[in-house]
Amino acid sequence: MGIFADNLVWRLGSGENVNFWNDHWMPGVHHLIDFVQPEVFPNMLEERVCDYVSDRRWDLNRIAVVLGDDWIPVFRSTKTPEPEIGEDILAWLLTLDGAFSIKSACSLYLSPSDNSKAELFSKIWKLEAPQRLRTFCWLVANEVLLTNEIRVKRNMTQDGSCVSCGEAIESMLHVIRDCRVARQTWMSIDARLRFGNFFNTPLLPWLLENLSSQSLFKGVQWPLLFVCIMNALWLRRNKVIFDSDEAVAENSIHFLAFRLAKDYSMAHLELAQSRKKVCNFIERQIKWKPPDHPFIKLNSDGSVLDGGRAACGGILRDSDGRFIACFSVNLNGGTVTTTELLGILLGLELALNIGCSHLIIEADSLVAVKLCLQKEIDLHATRSLVLAIRNRCSRLTSWNIHHQFREANTCADRLAHFGHSLPSGCHIFFNLSSCISLAFHADSIGIALPRVVSI
Ligand SMILES: [Zn+2]
Repeated sequence: MGIFADNLVWRLGSGENVNFWNDHWMPGVHHLIDFVQPEVFPNMLEERVCDYVSDRRWDLNRIAVVLGDDWIPVFRSTKTPEPEIGEDILAWLLTLDGAFSIKSACSLYLSPSDNSKAELFSKIWKLEAPQRLRTFCWLVANEVLLTNEIRVKRNMTQDGSCVSCGEAIESMLHVIRDCRVARQTWMSIDARLRFGNFFNTPLLPWLLENLSSQSLFKGVQWPLLFVCIMNALWLRRNKVIFDSDEAVAENSIHFLAFRLAKDYSMAHLELAQSRKKVCNFIERQIKWKPPDHPFIKLNSDGSVLDGGRAACGGILRDSDGRFIACFSVNLNGGTVTTTELLGILLGLELALNIGCSHLIIEADSLVAVKLCLQKEIDLHATRSLVLAIRNRCSRLTSWNIHHQFREANTCADRLAHFGHSLPSGCHIFFNLSSCISLAFHADSIGIALPRVVSI
C-alpha cells in the first residue's frame, strides 16, 4: 500500500482539506514535516495548506519561521490555493491526466528512475545532518535554488552565465561541482576524485551515489561532508553576488566545509549519546494537571501586543482543580520577560493574601522561569523583579516553579489577554471570569491539546 500512497498527490483547490505538514501536496516533498524547524510549536499537525495563505498569497514570513528561508523561492513558485478553484482533489502521480490506471501502477515496479528518485529523497531525509542542510540538499535535488539558469527561465535576468567564471550557463550542477572554484574545492578535499566519474555524472545519480556512500573521510561520514561542501559552495556563490567583500577565499572553502562537517558530526554524536534519537518529532498530549494536596497551583502568563501594550494574568486552583481566584492586569507597557515576571509576582502576592502556604507556580515562559531559578541575577535587567519574586516565595512553607507548555496554561493566557481590555491596574476576581470559563472547564475535565515535541 505504501508505494501506492507515495504516488498519490493532492491537487490544491481551496487547500482546506489538505494537511500542510503531513499530506503530499508539494510536488516532490512527501511530508513537509520532515523539514520543520526545531523551534516550531503547537498544534501544527492540524494546520491546513490554506492556513499558510493570507490575502491570496503565501504567508512567506510564517513559512520562513517554520521551514526556513530556503523555502521562500519554492513557495513563490508554487500556486497558492484559492477557495474559488473548489475542492482539493487527490490525483495519481504516474499518469498525465492524474487518473489512476493499472498499467501505470504496474510501472511502479518496472520503472527504475522513479524508484531511484524515491531512494534519493529517502537518503536526503535520513541524512545525519542539521535540518537546514537536509532542506538545502532537497532544494538542490529539485533544482529550485535560484541559479542564473533558473532566473533566466523565470525572466528575472537575461544573463544566465556564471558570476565566478563567466563561462558557462550557471546551472545547479555548475555552481556546486563544475565551476572552476567548485572543482578546485572538491579536488582540495580529495585529489582522487578526478579519477572516477565524479565530475561526469548527471545531477541526480551524482547526489544519490554520494549520499549513499558509506565511506569516512578523516573521521567524517562522506555524505555529511559532501553536503557541507555543496552548501559552502552555494553560500559562497551568493556572497560573491550580493556581498563580494565578505566572500570566503576560493582556496579555503574546503577547510570551512570540513570544519563544519566535523562540528556537525561531533554534535550529532553527542546528541545521539544523550538522547539516543535526534530530529524526531512526536505528538504529545498536553493538559493541565491539578497540584498534589496541600499545594495550590498558580498559572500565570504575560501578553505583549504589537505596539508594546502589555498585560498579564493568572489563576489559582486547588488540588481538586477548584477555582480559588484569578487576576488580570493592564500594565500598559513592558517587555515580554518583565511582563511574564510581573504575572508571577502578582500571582504570588495574591496567593499569600489568601493565606496560601504551599504553592506550585507554572508559567509558559522558559526565560522567566529560568531567571527565577538562576543563581547569578545581580547584573540582570530584571534583577529587582526576580528578587521580589524570591522574597515572596520565602514567605511560603513550600513552593516550586516550573515551565509549562502553553497548551496547559490556557486560562492564564486568556486572563493575560483579557487584561488589555481592562482599565490600567490589577483586577482581582473571586468568581470565575467569563473570559476563562471555557478554558477552565476544559482543564477541569482534563482535555488535552496536542503538541509536537522533539524526542
Ligand atoms: Zn562558473
